[in-house]
Amino acid sequence: MDRKSGVIGIVPIGEVKPVILKILAANIQAVYNLPVDILDGRKSLRKFFNPTRNQYNALTILQHMDRRWRQPHERILAVVSVDIFIPILTYVFGEAQVNGKMALVSTYRLNRRSGGGNVKPARFYERIVKVAIHELAHTFGLVHCRENHCVMRASYSLKDLDYYPIYFCDYCQAMLDDVYRRMNLRTL
Ligand SMILES: [Zn+2]
Ligand SMILES: [Zn+2]
Repeated sequence: MDRKSGVIGIVPIGEVKPVILKILAANIQAVYNLPVDILDGRKSLRKFFNPTRNQYNALTILQHMDRRWRQPHERILAVVSVDIFIPILTYVFGEAQVNGKMALVSTYRLNRRSGGGNVKPARFYERIVKVAIHELAHTFGLVHCRENHCVMRASYSLKDLDYYPIYFCDYCQAMLDDVYRRMNLRTL
C-alpha cells in the first residue's frame, strides 16, 4: 500500500459493532482534524478479566496494547463493549495513558438511562464519541478543564457526560494545536 497511514488508529477488542467504529472514526477525524484508520482488533478479552470483580482491567488492557502494538499510528484508541475498571474505582467509561500512546473506551455503561432502560442510539453514540475524544486528549497531554463547554471537563456520571459538548474549548484547542506543532503531525 502506498497510502500513508492515519495518525490515530481505532482498534476493537472483543465484540464491537462496526457501526460504532465508523461513528468514532468520523467524529474523531472531524474534531481532531487528523486522519483516522479503523484497524484489525484482537478477538479475546479473556486475559484482562478479573473474576473477583467480574469486570475487565482497563490498565492491563492499556499496558498490553502498549507492549504489543507495532503499527505506525501515533495514537491508538482501543474500543471494548465489556465493563472495565481501574483498581481505585468501581468502574470507568474510559482510561488513557497521559502523554502516552494508548486510550480506551468502553461502551458497556453508555447506553443506560438514569430512570432505567436505555437511551436512544444517537445519545449512546454521542457518549461513546465524547469519552473517546476526552481520553485521546489525555494521550496528547491535555488535563481536565474547568470550562463548562469543553470535552475535557471531568465527568463522574452519565449526567456529567451528557452535560458537556464533544468539542474542545478555545484554551484546550490551543493546547492541542501546540502539541500538533511540536509533534509535527499531519493534519487533514
Ligand atoms: Zn479525563
Ligand atoms: Zn477546555
